[in-house]
Amino acid sequence: METIYDISEPGKKACSLPRLDVPEKDIPYLIPKKHLRGRIPRLPEVTEGEIARHFTNLSNTNFAVDTVFYPLGSCTMKYSPKVNELLSKMEGFSDIHPYQDESQVQGALRIMYELADWLAEIGGFTKVSLQPAAGAHGELTGLAMIRAYHEHNGNPRQKVIIPDSAHGTNPATAAMLGYKVVQVPSDKYGGVDVNALEKLLDDQVAAIFLTNPNTLGIFDRNILKINEMVHSVGALSYCDGANLNAILGKSRPGDMDFDVLHFNLHKTFSTPHGGGGPGSGPVGVNKILEPFLPVPVIEKDDVLDAYYLNYDRPLSIGRIRAFYGNFAVIVKAYCYIKALGRNGLNHVSDISVLNANYLKNKLKRIYDLPYDVPCMHEFVLSASKQKRLGIKARDIAKRLIDYNIHPPTIYFPLIVDEALMIEPTETESLRNLDLFVEAMERIAEEAINNPEKILEAPHNTAISRLNEAEAARHPRLSCLPSDVIK
Ligand SMILES: *Cc1c(COP(=O)(O)O)cnc(C)c1O
Repeated sequence: METIYDISEPGKKACSLPRLDVPEKDIPYLIPKKHLRGRIPRLPEVTEGEIARHFTNLSNTNFAVDTVFYPLGSCTMKYSPKVNELLSKMEGFSDIHPYQDESQVQGALRIMYELADWLAEIGGFTKVSLQPAAGAHGELTGLAMIRAYHEHNGNPRQKVIIPDSAHGTNPATAAMLGYKVVQVPSDKYGGVDVNALEKLLDDQVAAIFLTNPNTLGIFDRNILKINEMVHSVGALSYCDGANLNAILGKSRPGDMDFDVLHFNLHKTFSTPHGGGGPGSGPVGVNKILEPFLPVPVIEKDDVLDAYYLNYDRPLSIGRIRAFYGNFAVIVKAYCYIKALGRNGLNHVSDISVLNANYLKNKLKRIYDLPYDVPCMHEFVLSASKQKRLGIKARDIAKRLIDYNIHPPTIYFPLIVDEALMIEPTETESLRNLDLFVEAMERIAEEAINNPEKILEAPHNTAISRLNEAEAARHPRLSCLPSDVIK
């Protein structure tokens, strides 16, 4: 694919202005002279039409939720209504500044206050902070609060228990906060092995990290018992809320006796995401963790009927990012929840679970399904049958691209060999689900009759199969000519 430098030619311009017909005047520089460039940068010289074509063609090479079905397990790549994008870009939202006086941004504070209130209701918690910038950041915030809680009680404790099916951010978070990570195995139903957990619990355990439903898409039937066991040794229970789409309006982590939960607003509540952002990972807590929430907390003065930022919280873990949260994502989540209402959110989980079970039941005829139980919003197949023919999960993922479908998540969770983790979400029609089934069936046939075709896939993309070892060792991160980078 050509870069914009390849089509550059000296003298080409994207606009033409009339000759200056007023006297030229020197304007004092706002930027100190020493910071100014000495020579004109070598920017590409192209016509307006070429610019338009170049970027339109580039965007057409995107594999995005706006162009294809995107069943990327755990990531909830649902289609997010464009109206929420438009609303979050309105001047009143996009032109305000975090240093503005509270009195000038009452509307923004009200949106944050109300969203926090709704999330608390949805999750079953007493208070929510909107500050964390992503799910993983929510984990860091939540576990920092748990640590502060234990320190406040005189013993910070040393260990955090995490299931072998967990998302990698869970142990990373615990390690970053200086905890020792202790792994608990899964039982044959895909839930936490309660007997193994029993043996790991003692007064040095600060917390358990659970995802429910977990990364296999399975709701842990022992969840109340597990949280009771954890609390009985004085430890707290953290819920990774990345899979909230499965239980919206049905059950609440707070009611399952979790002490803290992070929400991934970008996954569940309507922000198109991927490639690192944008995100927002609010945390909800119960009464015992409330004093430790990051500052500032948004509060409402009922007498003055005004919202304000409260910094006066002596036990707070402090600030965890600049300002108050990823505001544009907050606005989108607010609009989404307001538009759907209680019944609408309930319907989201109905359809996301229905869609996943539909796909699971169709696909388990041809692919191995290691945990064959009714699933929630996602399920995990294994390419173990195909592996015997020399075709791995990675190859199937690449071949799906030729069928115009984004690959599912692969090789996660780690407890499934050749894992293909599939999350259709509620925004896909039956037609799209059937097209996916058809593609997966054809790939299974190809694995038998034409394995070369799969091993060389993708065939239809701008860039075909990369040498992954080479890409990792010697990544080429820029296509600019080297004299421009210098
Ligand atoms: C996505 C995800 C996370 C991390 O969330 P980010 O918003 O990507 O930081 C954590 N746990 C699970 C199960 C996830 O799917």
